[in-house]
Amino acid sequence: MTIGVLALQGDFREHIAALAKLGENAVEIRTVEQLEQVAALIIPGGESTTISLLAKSTGLDLAIAERIKSGMAIYGSCAGMILLANEILDGRDDQISFNAIDITVRRNGFGRQVDSFEAKLKSTLFADLMGVFIRAPKIEKIGTNVEVLAWVEVQGERTPVMVRSGSALATCFHPELNDDGVVHKYFVDMVHNQQS
Ligand code: GLN
Repeated sequence: MTIGVLALQGDFREHIAALAKLGENAVEIRTVEQLEQVAALIIPGGESTTISLLAKSTGLDLAIAERIKSGMAIYGSCAGMILLANEILDGRDDQISFNAIDITVRRNGFGRQVDSFEAKLKSTLFADLMGVFIRAPKIEKIGTNVEVLAWVEVQGERTPVMVRSGSALATCFHPELNDDGVVHKYFVDMVHNQQS
């Protein structure tokens, strides 16, 4: 079984490395043909508007939407979360969204003062989860069928930062920059459970 990492822009190499460390087969995805070969997909952090434009020009926008509809497991980190959200605030009019998770996210929503930061997260799954946030999207609304798996507290306010809806997972933070691999392990388990 192979997991693909969308390699149009952003920190896809770090996701490949995190999966390889867990003993998983991981490949870079740049074409529709490559997408057909994988069981699941990670959309990395980077710039959601750029990833959007490149996905449109390669036809991966429609191909990914189709695979999501047929139940493929998908994980989006940061810019990847923006692409999975049902609603994007402060986005560009032409940026795409796969409507995979019923959340409203605001691009760069944590504001200038905490543009980039690292914080200990509260989680229902992990005891010691650290989150690295880089111009991260903020989840402003949670809709139906969304399970919140982790939160961060910033300036006294608690915000969800890891959510799952069926076979779609998303984080505002970048676990590929941590050494522990626990979020990738959680996604890999999702994929394996689906395949078995
Ligand atoms: N701010 C970026 C965007 O809007 C996301 C940042 C990231 O992925 N580190 O796409």
